[in-house]
Amino acid sequence: MNPLFLAIQGKGIGKTVARLRTLGMRYGLAPSKMDQALERFARVLAHYRCGASFPITAAALARSRGVVEKYQARDIEFAVHGYRHIDHSQLSPDRQAADFSSARRLFEARGVACWGFRSPYLRRNEATLEAIREAGFLYDSSDSLAWDVVNGGGSEAYAKALAFYGARPAGDYPALPKLAAGLVEIPYCLPDDESLIERLHFEDDQARSRPWLDILAETHRRGELFTLGLHPERIFLCEVPLRNVLEKARGLSPGVWVARLDEIAKWWKRRSALEPVVGFSWPDEYWLNTRPLKGLTLLGRAVEMVRPPREWHGGWTQVKGSGVRFKSPLRPFIGITPRSEAGLAGFLRQQGYIVEFTETRSNYSVFLDRPKFADEDERGLLADLDGGDSPLVRFGRWPDGAQSALSITGDIDALTLWDYGLRALGR
Ligand SMILES: [Zn+2]
Repeated sequence: MNPLFLAIQGKGIGKTVARLRTLGMRYGLAPSKMDQALERFARVLAHYRCGASFPITAAALARSRGVVEKYQARDIEFAVHGYRHIDHSQLSPDRQAADFSSARRLFEARGVACWGFRSPYLRRNEATLEAIREAGFLYDSSDSLAWDVVNGGGSEAYAKALAFYGARPAGDYPALPKLAAGLVEIPYCLPDDESLIERLHFEDDQARSRPWLDILAETHRRGELFTLGLHPERIFLCEVPLRNVLEKARGLSPGVWVARLDEIAKWWKRRSALEPVVGFSWPDEYWLNTRPLKGLTLLGRAVEMVRPPREWHGGWTQVKGSGVRFKSPLRPFIGITPRSEAGLAGFLRQQGYIVEFTETRSNYSVFLDRPKFADEDERGLLADLDGGDSPLVRFGRWPDGAQSALSITGDIDALTLWDYGLRALGR
């Protein structure tokens, strides 16, 4: 499908015309306007000692004349945003596989490290994930989650965007990475800058900051990940909301891990692969060890840690490192029956829980027999586990005792007005 037609479908004709008008001011005919935007963005990030992840189309990178590469030294990661800015849900599996491999080769030739992928328009078909995996990417960040934070201020244009992206409600699904067959899937949170500026209407920067501050508060409460979407081209319009979020995040306790998407994907994969070894000495003392992982913490609830722990929050205490001794009246792990759904153990291990297969309910503080377990059940199970008070020992979900995570990310669709024109033709 023609990208211009897609834009009209996503935004409506009036918005598309208005957007084409503002684009002229934003991009200009040389890459210098994007360079200025990236420079400003990098300065804000440096002030808060954090980085960001910017997916860019390979075609725009190819024409970029050195604008992009230098930002890698400033804690900015680039990812692939398609070879061209087109709707991948309309492409055959072979075409997608060929495009993604050429995109990776092009990034490599330009000296741009690339770990991740985000689909243009957040759209894809059944073959897309497999093609991303085969091309050797570590993560994909194209699935979207819609947060209920517009407080009745929604608009038809916003509802249209959510439907177009296929966004799922964040009230029903956890905002967490998911490792599936080697690929880490990282959800993208909505509303992003495009929705805040072009689809929702706010009086000023403070009102415009509210939805993002609410997502930050909610992800912090749940211990989840906020991927804040801000296209570099809109940094001048969204600088205050971005600063408000980073300022707030830096002040929260327990802390917020502010990291790039590649760092988050690597952490998630490494932590999920830990294989804890558990020992028991009569009458009630356990030890747990695993191979070292920088930043790893062990959390305990309703158990007596032998090494003095530090208070964490919500009734948990924490111990840094990869080994711990503790006393507990029951095995403080999650016992699950072998007939439970195959994905259940993997899901729990990815959350940091220690899982053991068993038929013996009485030994375990938490025992699950779930022959059926789907994506829709994840949120409820996490709430039950977090809300309980039974003895548990687990790995911290995020590094260094952080309670939640935040990642700043935004697509670079075009560097110049010329790119934008080619993009409209799918080039
Ligand atoms: Zn895009």
